[in-house]
Amino acid sequence: MTTDSTQPFDWRLAVVDPTPRAPAGFRSLVTPTSRGSTTLFERAADLRDDWDAEKAPYTYGLHGTPTVLELGARIAQLEQGCHCFITPGGQAAIALVYLAFCGAGDHALLPDTAYGPNQGLAGGLLKRLGIEVETYDPLIGAGIAALLRPNTRLVWCESPGSATMEIQDVPAIAAAAHRAGAVVALDNTYAAGVLFDAFAHGVDVTMQALTKYIGGHSDLLLGSVTCRDEAHYQALGEARNFLGMAASPDDCSLALRGLQTLGVRLAQLERGTLEVAQWLAGRPEVRTVLHPALPSCPGHEIWKRDFTGSASVFSIVLRDGPSRARIEAFVDRLALFKIGYSWGGVTSLAAPYFNLRRTLRPYGDGLVRLNVGLEPPAALIADLEQAFAALA
Ligand SMILES: *Cc1c(COP(=O)(O)O)cnc(C)c1O
Repeated sequence: MTTDSTQPFDWRLAVVDPTPRAPAGFRSLVTPTSRGSTTLFERAADLRDDWDAEKAPYTYGLHGTPTVLELGARIAQLEQGCHCFITPGGQAAIALVYLAFCGAGDHALLPDTAYGPNQGLAGGLLKRLGIEVETYDPLIGAGIAALLRPNTRLVWCESPGSATMEIQDVPAIAAAAHRAGAVVALDNTYAAGVLFDAFAHGVDVTMQALTKYIGGHSDLLLGSVTCRDEAHYQALGEARNFLGMAASPDDCSLALRGLQTLGVRLAQLERGTLEVAQWLAGRPEVRTVLHPALPSCPGHEIWKRDFTGSASVFSIVLRDGPSRARIEAFVDRLALFKIGYSWGGVTSLAAPYFNLRRTLRPYGDGLVRLNVGLEPPAALIADLEQAFAALA
């Protein structure tokens, strides 16, 4: 019909015939980027809107195009879960987990070292909705049993903790939480879903900011939520549908590309980061290095027991003395390390953390978080060495 050349050009342009005109038979190594809000049905009687891609894969673009579902399936496979939902970012993934499992009157537990915006969500929107989120010492281990209540629905873990890098005894926490009937969720962003096998260690639901290591190039925002259980899949799917958390197929296509080099990037980042961290451990300006693979990191023994590697983000605590202004001057003087949020890309980053609310293990004003990128470690060390002069 649309090939009807007797029609005027505006008719021929506007009346869409989705039948391809290009030759069939193209085979490539790349997952195609499939865009689409509307998906087409053969007959009116076939129309349905269903979020559950297991039952009806393509009913509306919100629930995922082939590119989005492919990324989800590959991450589920990598983490050895049963299903994975792709979200617009890591913080959206955190919100989805809360809203899938908690309602008014429920109680949740969150390590006091959790990602800052997770704590912000807990103390802001969730509080307003009548969900009580209590913070706990990340090193509590089996002692979490004392904090579990009859209405505790969700126990979060994040290991290592944000900025202060405490490694948690996730199996001990999960065992206690399960005895109390709570769902165990893990922010597994540091491990990129691969350096810590969450489901083998008792976790029910994992999320990660794909923004970090899966994207790997600081050019996209995406998150994922993976579960290992059908009931959790239903709860997450319904909540994601209510919230309308769609992910862009273009960003998913970049994440699929990132996945292909995740292994080599993580291996190189681990080597380079360890070299820089070990050099920093020997510097007189540095009181301690908070890197999971170094014995100075709280929970290091658990990292050795449970993780298969370390990643690119860690912190240093400076010796007492330098003022905030001097610490800022140190960070400003770095040339290869840029100043900014997020991590896991190819570029090294530095950020001072003043006034971190860490009541149990306070570090004062001297904590600087570093993310090591793919620059030569010797050049990064030289950069840090010249910048230390600013502390004097
Ligand atoms: C960055 C980050 C997030 C949030 O991810 P966005 O994609 O930036 O929203 C969540 N958790 C951790 C541990 C992170 O580092």
